[in-house]
Amino acid sequence: MILRKLQFKSNKGVFSFKEILIVVLVAVAFFLIIIYDDSSIRPNIQLKTCIANMKKLHDVTKLLIMEEPDITDITVQTLLDKNILKKIPVCPSFKIDGRYEIIDEVGQPVDVICIHGKDKIPGHGSFLSLKAKYIDKVE
Ligand SMILES: [Zn+2]
Repeated sequence: MILRKLQFKSNKGVFSFKEILIVVLVAVAFFLIIIYDDSSIRPNIQLKTCIANMKKLHDVTKLLIMEEPDITDITVQTLLDKNILKKIPVCPSFKIDGRYEIIDEVGQPVDVICIHGKDKIPGHGSFLSLKAKYIDKVE
């Protein structure tokens, strides 16, 4: 009697409780796969966040150079001191000591590098190469 109440009518006919149960279980299975596959998604999000951080640093550094063409040795601290940045961006993959170094050598395009630790262990790498790999492909 209860099962009959749970039956839903459709154009083709009637879905049984079993059919609905199967659909729900498949949906739950897909949901669980998405949740547990997080480990493979997370590095991607971290990399995207890192590239976004580097893009911001890259863009504001270029603006600063346009405003002050004689400026040299730009660091993240310079951007902070000049109130261009409110806080130091941190690479999400290396929360404790993920940081960025700005490369502004004369005659070279401005670049930002993701590094971490006192020993400057390479992180995600150079913004310009990541941009060529990920951003330029998309745009
Ligand atoms: Zn990074």
